[in-house]
Parts: sequence; structure tokens; C-alpha cells
Amino acid sequence: MRYRQFWNKEIETLSREELEAYQADQLSQHLLLAYDQSAYYKEAFDQAGVKPSDFKELADIRKFPFTNKQIERERQNLKPFLGDMTAVEEEEVVFVSASSGSTGVPTLSPFTRQDFEEFQDVQSRLFWAAGMRPTDRYVHALNFTLFVGGPDVIGAQNLGALCLWAGAIPSDRLLFILKEFQPTMIWTTPSYAWYLGETARKQGIDPAKDLAIKRIIVAGEAGGSIDATRAAIEELWGAKVYDFYGISDIFGACAGACEARSGLHIAEDHILVEVLNPETLEPVADGERGELVLTTLRKTARPMIRFRTGDIVTYTKEPCTCGRTHGRVNITGRLDDMFIVSGVNVFPSDVEFVIRNIPELTGEYRITVFTENFTTKYKVEVEKLDTSAIDEEALLAKVQDSIKTRLGVRPKEVVLLKEGELPRATHKAKRLIDLRNN
Ligand SMILES: [Zn+2]
Repeated sequence: MRYRQFWNKEIETLSREELEAYQADQLSQHLLLAYDQSAYYKEAFDQAGVKPSDFKELADIRKFPFTNKQIERERQNLKPFLGDMTAVEEEEVVFVSASSGSTGVPTLSPFTRQDFEEFQDVQSRLFWAAGMRPTDRYVHALNFTLFVGGPDVIGAQNLGALCLWAGAIPSDRLLFILKEFQPTMIWTTPSYAWYLGETARKQGIDPAKDLAIKRIIVAGEAGGSIDATRAAIEELWGAKVYDFYGISDIFGACAGACEARSGLHIAEDHILVEVLNPETLEPVADGERGELVLTTLRKTARPMIRFRTGDIVTYTKEPCTCGRTHGRVNITGRLDDMFIVSGVNVFPSDVEFVIRNIPELTGEYRITVFTENFTTKYKVEVEKLDTSAIDEEALLAKVQDSIKTRLGVRPKEVVLLKEGELPRATHKAKRLIDLRNN
């Protein structure tokens, strides 16, 4: 059967002018809702001396104050249990997700019935753009316990795919499902896709031949947007990898790769994108790196106005070859993971890009950041493939030079380990060790 090209052609192919007019219209209503119904936004807007009526065109969003994770957490504690950023009564809320974050205090993300339905429609749209069709068997291998990614499976089901609600289960059981039910699509993190593929091989299963997976959706780490990382997972699985980007404070997935796999289309009918220099908070040019700042346009349970995500991205409004007009983001990494060496911003994903392009290495790595003589330095540990006959000195020089070329700053040291010496990640990989405050 031949299926249509877009999930929602009208919305996904609006001209830039039409899209921005729609965004401005939604946002003027949304700011009013936030100001009238949420104690937090009333206070924050009043303090900033700005009113919803000051918003006349999209650029006016810059008059409004930022929010961030810390504010979200504080305001949640002020008024248990959903906090005073919410704009509806609790009786209208039908779903709440919780994200643990680094401090251990979970932040909650509430949805009204309509928010939840629209959220699932966006998930269906992203799945469709990534090639999912009703003929697919889809295994949802994300955590269901309070995690906003759990219910994304409903988006796949509403699309018509046959859905297997696996959840976060041990690798052996997941491999059993992949073998017995022969699903064609799966969603996991890039680290886990790699780990699972390697685990399968150790059990004598060749993921590319013995399993039916044709598409892997990945999210939660930068790897899915690093060409060499994606290529390595694709070769292991004989499947295509589609990167998704999600943030629980807003939605589950907010953006996803299409068949062109050249950036992640963000659902701009629901979310306004700003990309700002994290220091000056001024907008960066199209295609330049900056912090992703998101504003909800329709999520009524808890509007998020100018939420600083802490994610560093590039963003382009250039049309995509797939025909979709919504802008595309590429995720570089977390602002928290960035470190500065000799004035250069270094992201672990830049190091990963280099490591994954050197064929004599396994692709595993670990970065340690430390201080020496009051100066920030970093060390990179990599693994040499057992099958590689390259001279170790030559390989070390190659790694050093490639990193210098890509990043502009040499690591203080590169350590060559044997294959398998670095710890293998199951879900999110811990590849950055920061010793600077010790
Ligand atoms: Zn596209």
C-alpha cells in the first residue's frame, strides 16, 4: 500500500510567513492565559514591567522574562504539588510526568486532556516523518514509570503501527522480543542501541541479518546527530537511525529527523524556537551554535515562556528536501557538559565526532577535565581495536592531530586502551569526568 507523504500536510508545509503568523496569533493568546491564570507568570511579567498586550509580533517575545529548570523547581515547591506556573485547576490535569534531573528533586510536567492529545498527535507526526507506517511493528523500549517518553507509544499506536509496550527491560528479554516478534522499529538511546547490538552479537545473533529492525529512533544523547556514531549503529544493525529531541518540561519528543536526516524538524506549530548566545542572551545567526530557548504556544496546563533548555544547538529555517517547512535543529550537547580550554568551547560530542571517524578505534571514549597550574586541561581515553595492526605511536599522533584539527585545542594527553577496557554504557553513557572542583 502506498501511504501519503505527510502526517499533516497542511501544518507541516505552511510557508514561513503563514507559520509565523500562526505562531504570533497562538502566542498572543498563550501569553494572556499565562498572565491571567498563573500566579508565577503574573508576578514575573509584572516584575519585568511587561504585559501580554506588549506582544504585537514574534520579535516582541524578547521583552518577556526567561524561565529555567531552577525557577521551575522553586515554583513547584511554593505550591504543592504542581506549582504555581500552572494555568489550570488540578481537576483539568489528566497526566503528569516527572523527570529526576541531576539534583534528584523531580520536576513535574502536567498535561490537560487536550494537551495530551496534541502531544500524541505531534508524536505521530514525528514517527511518520521518520518513516513509520501502519505496516510497522514498533517496540517501545523506553521507561514507562513517570517518564514523559513512556506514553509516546500511544502516538505510534494512533498512527496505526503494531505496538509492543516493552518498557525498560533487561537486554536479554528485549532481544527475545526482537527475535521472536521480528519488530521493524525500535526507540532507545544511541549508547543503548550500540550496547544492545553488541550484546546480540555476543549471543550469536547478527542484528543486521537475524533481526528485522529497519529503523532505530534514538534520543537523549548527542550521538544520534553525529554522522559517524549514527553510521556505526546503522552498520551494526543494518538499519537507519533517526534522532529525536525531547524535553519533559515541554513535551515528550519536540523534534525529530525526517527521511532526509539533515537536522530535526521541530513542531513549530506548538513551540517557538529561539537560539541565543548563552552569555549575551542575544540571538545568534541562522546555523550558528547557541542555547535553545523554547516557548510553548498551546500547552495550557503549564505554559512555558522562554524556557532556557541548557542545550546547545544549531537551528535553520532553510527549507528541507523532504518538503517540510518547520525549522530544523541539530543538538551539539548540554551547556553543562561544555568546558573551555584556552578560550575554546569544547563539547564531548565534538570529541566523539573525531573518535568515531578513526577506523582503528572502537569508538568508545572517556574525557577527563582537570586543572593544572590554574589552567583547564583535558585527557581523552580511547580504545584501539584488537584487529588493528597500526603502530601505537602513530595512532596516538593521529588521534591528537585529528582532535586538534576539529576542536582547535589539543588534549593534554591521549591514553590508548585495549578493546573493552572502558565501561560499556547501558542507557545514558557517562563519558565526561570533571575533576575541576575536587
Ligand atoms: Zn525534512
